[in-house]
Parts: sequence; C-alpha cells; structure tokens
Amino acid sequence: MKLCTFDEGEGPLTGVIEGDEILPLRDTVEMIELIERGAGWAPAGPRLPLHSTRLLAPIVPERNVFCVGWNYSEHFAEGKDFRPASAPQEIPDHPALFSKNPFAIVGPRAGVRHPAPISDQLDYEVELAVIIGRGGRDIAESDALDHIFGYTVANDVSVRDVQRSWHGGQWFKGKNFDTHLPLGPWIVTKDEIPDPQALRLTTKVNGVIKQDSNTRHMVFSVARIIAELSAGLTLRPGDVIITGTPEGVGMGRKPPEWLKVGDIMELEIEKIGILRNQVERSG
Ligand code: MG
Repeated sequence: MKLCTFDEGEGPLTGVIEGDEILPLRDTVEMIELIERGAGWAPAGPRLPLHSTRLLAPIVPERNVFCVGWNYSEHFAEGKDFRPASAPQEIPDHPALFSKNPFAIVGPRAGVRHPAPISDQLDYEVELAVIIGRGGRDIAESDALDHIFGYTVANDVSVRDVQRSWHGGQWFKGKNFDTHLPLGPWIVTKDEIPDPQALRLTTKVNGVIKQDSNTRHMVFSVARIIAELSAGLTLRPGDVIITGTPEGVGMGRKPPEWLKVGDIMELEIEKIGILRNQVERSG
C-alpha cells in the first residue's frame, strides 16, 4: 500500500494512493496517528487526482531524523579528499550516526534552498528512508524488520564545506540547512518490500544519472542499523531513519559538481517512487 500526506488547503491529510488517484482516509489527520493505530483505516470522501494534488512530506517525525553516514564503501572512498586528517581512514565497526532536525523536511516538488552566499558546495544524496512502526529498545537484528512500518525516499542534502570542516568537524550544521531534507513522494508499506536490501536507487540531476547503485551494497543492513540504534535507545512509532548514500555525489566527482539554482534533482528507489525537487535561490 502507498500512503501519502496531502494538502487541499485545510492542512495535512492522509490518503491511500490507488493508481493515479488518492483515497482520503477518514479520521486520520496525520501519518503518525495512522502508524500508531496500526489498523482500522477507512477511506472517506471523493477520490482526488494524484497529479494535481499537493503532496507534502509523507511524515514529519516528532524528533530528529536518525541518519547513517558512510554506509556504502564506494561513497566512503570518494569522500577521501574531503575528510579532515582526524576522520577515520576505514569504515568504523559501528555505523556513523548523526541527525537532521524535522524542520529541515520538505515534501516532493518543494524547493531546496541554495546556501549562497554562505557556501556554494550544495550536494544531493539519495537514501532509503525507514519508518518505524513498532517501537522498542535493544531490538535484535533478527527481529528488526518486524519493527518497520514502511519506506520512502530521502534526499540528505548537504553543504559540504560546512559539513566537513566548519563547526569542529561535526556534521550537524552542514546537514541541517532549512529545506535540506526532502522526503517522499509517499510511504510504501513494508509488505510490498520484503527485502530492503534489494532495491536499485538512482539520482538524476537535470535528467543525467549521477548515482546508480543498489541497497544490497550497504555496509550495515537496515536490520543491523535498527539493532545498533535501538541498543539502549528506545525507538518510537513514526521515527525515521535514513540509511546512507552510495557513490556518485557531486563532492566525489572530478572536478566536484555542486548544485546550482534551477537544477532539478530526481531521486528514485525501486518499488517506491521518484522524489523530485528543484534548487531555488535562498531568500
Ligand atoms: Mg547521507
């Protein structure tokens, strides 16, 4: 099932996508309620055309989005020249974790703001996003997939110089500019994706393929990430985890290719859909 959040002018509503139409759901204001309820969704109201209805990010969690860095070895290798000497020279034994705040989230078709004049090093990252359905702490890797509600596409937009070398080498600020976490276009429930480690993921910029990989190349699987993250830390329904990006980002190109105002990013993950956003001028 594909579930979306949309706005017809009266605030966010949730719906089921069937073909090229949206079936609004009754009594459900936000995706998080629907996830917590777990069942009993009832369609209501007339169907809406998908192509002309304004989709929002399918979910905005109540706390920061959990993010995994360096989860594809080719991407770790391509970033070598950009890492400070103090950074690890090999992928660590445990996944690198950081966070993006929920106010950075925008939906499909929304603008992503260029960071000029602060920086011109704007970059894209296609990532599989996991939405937690059943919370828990100390979740075993073997049980981890049972805790997932569904999946969507994330663009972990990054301002590279700010991420890598400003602010003590902490990634937080360079990963948290306003509008720098597009999510969508909808959530596909986990029953439609029995194996999250077998999904092709691609990025096109202005129609040209820049990233083209598969989630089977993750260093830390989705199940392992959930196990590591939930060790001593309670995951809650509606939590969002983005699972790292493969090679092909602008930073890793020779010479580097930074996004410009007007560029169109199309991020696609097999069995989910295409997340499309355009870079716009700030302010
Ligand atoms: Mg990332």
